Amino acid sequence: MIVNMFSDATKEQIDHVVDRIKECGFQAHLIRGEERTVIGIVGNSNKHRPELEALRAAPGVEELVPISHPFKLAARSCRPEGSVFDLGKGVTIGGREVVVAAGPCAVESAEQISSIAESVARAGAKLLRGGAFKPRSSPYSFQGMGEEGLKLMRAAADKNGLRVVSEVMDASQIDVMLPYVDVLQVGARNMQNYHLLRALGETNKPVLLKRGLSATLEELLLSAEYIMSGGNYKVILCERGIRTFETYTRNTLDIAAIPVVKQLSHLPIIADPSHGTGRRDKVAAMARAAVAAGADGLIIEVHPDPERALSDGVQSLYPEQFAQMMDQVRAIAPAVDRAIATGPLAAAGQ
Ligand code: PEP
Ligand code: MN
Repeated sequence: MIVNMFSDATKEQIDHVVDRIKECGFQAHLIRGEERTVIGIVGNSNKHRPELEALRAAPGVEELVPISHPFKLAARSCRPEGSVFDLGKGVTIGGREVVVAAGPCAVESAEQISSIAESVARAGAKLLRGGAFKPRSSPYSFQGMGEEGLKLMRAAADKNGLRVVSEVMDASQIDVMLPYVDVLQVGARNMQNYHLLRALGETNKPVLLKRGLSATLEELLLSAEYIMSGGNYKVILCERGIRTFETYTRNTLDIAAIPVVKQLSHLPIIADPSHGTGRRDKVAAMARAAVAAGADGLIIEVHPDPERALSDGVQSLYPEQFAQMMDQVRAIAPAVDRAIATGPLAAAGQ
């Protein structure tokens, strides 16, 4: 259930409603919109439900609205205008701009990450992606460079004005990662690692939550709810393809998930056509489709020498292909009332 406060409700009136919700044994989440404050009520106490209903009569309350979905704080009705939040240094997601993250699947060396950072920044990316802790299907595959990889990534990103997004595989890695990253990525294989999700709810870093390999959208939103119910509302959802019977592509990128999630939730949603197709020559087409479908961002794997990449070379774009893809999505964005940044050289008119 949510409480819509009148736009002129006072702080005292809001505090009073919050206190009453807590007295009834529920959690109260304050969601301050541009026009008004909404208070999300979550919890599983049925005992005091009638008392909650009586809040309709409290001063400053316009209406109580039941949320029929099992996810509550992630529900669109909590923030009908959509969530827009800051990733630091002027980069925001959920607004008019479609934000692009790009980089290698895994950080492999200083040379590799710095050359990729430079080329993706030049093409208009705002975030540098790259795994330092890698969830590999085989225990014998490259597992990532760990903290050393994070340091290299931070340095390469800072040099090129980029933000950093990297995957956290376990709650024990959060503290190690916090000094280096701007967005913590939860991989598809960990979407239902509820211990990790709860731990991320206690941080205040934005979280990029990838859809599980066989997760429904309701399950994805419930995983977001785990993070949000801990007080961290900065969750970015990611459609990265699901397992189907199709074998020509690595996964099936569910483009329809984008408008469906947009209707169900206020959270931003981005698309990952790299993992979504698993094939370099299909990535640009699906990136174009995702932007046309209303994605708030893209995450793309790029490698200067994919043949020698330690992971996911087959789906990684060459830097020039990435730049070309960016030109294409930049041309599509205005058709759906969005925009995609140009790189610093183009912005400076060079
Ligand atoms: C990745 O982003 O490199 C990755 C491992 O993604 P996913 O969790 O979607 O497989
Ligand atoms: Mn990868």
